[in-house]
Amino acid sequence: MAALRVESATVRFGDRTVLDDVDVGVEEQETVCVLGPSGSGKSTLLRAVAGLREPDSGRVLLDGADQRGVPVHRRGLGLMFQDHQLFPQRDVGGNVAFGLRMHGVSKQRAAARVAELLEMVGLPGAEHRAIASLSGGEQQRVALARALAPQPRLLMLDEPLGQLDRSLRERLALELQQLFAELGTTVLAVTHDQSEAFALADRVLVMREGRIAQSGTPLEVWQRPASAFVARFLGFDN
Ligand code: ADP
Ligand code: MG
Repeated sequence: MAALRVESATVRFGDRTVLDDVDVGVEEQETVCVLGPSGSGKSTLLRAVAGLREPDSGRVLLDGADQRGVPVHRRGLGLMFQDHQLFPQRDVGGNVAFGLRMHGVSKQRAAARVAELLEMVGLPGAEHRAIASLSGGEQQRVALARALAPQPRLLMLDEPLGQLDRSLRERLALELQQLFAELGTTVLAVTHDQSEAFALADRVLVMREGRIAQSGTPLEVWQRPASAFVARFLGFDN
């Protein structure tokens, strides 16, 4: 059974159809990356899966169960969204522990888990550092640790490496890909950056104006763009 299945999801804002009859499947332990230009509907797709904006029609299934009406905090998701900032007044450990404490994990157990998570994302011993003292890349690692903390059945990343410069972005994308493989994490990520998508993904979905224009492995999409739009978006001239 697929970890996530989005069936014919449509989202409209007024008379604009922003997500247009979209189907997406993510298998257990798979990393699927939606790649598309700004405004193509990527964030709307993630928000629909999370239940932050229920689709106007279509369904979202997690492990086979229809999620309509299930609130976001009961969907078992790990979210790392552009607009989900870290809490600046808490230290690193406080940020990572946030979801654990909310789920009723004891202080002591949370502390052990936080240490393990910070180790995983390459920030061992950073518990007491202030958020303001971290670089952009370090902040994204903390946000990732926070999202992974409750062991979500699906991790959703919105432009996860967007704040970083290009060289760091590619290195981190490969690091994440390795981490997700080791942990067996199931991931749905969205980005406008093709090198990020190709480094992270087992499968890439190219999105255009609210529709999936192509689905394939990074190599398939790269070698055989399915349309002039995909080819142009990947930077081929014709
Ligand atoms: P992407 O993440 O690919 O850049 P979005 O999903 O954020 O795209 O947005 C897709 C389109 O939907 C954009 O044109 C955006 O302006 C529009 N949109 C997104 N959210 C809303 C909203 N709450 N109300 C009206 N329009 C929206
Ligand atoms: Mg977006």
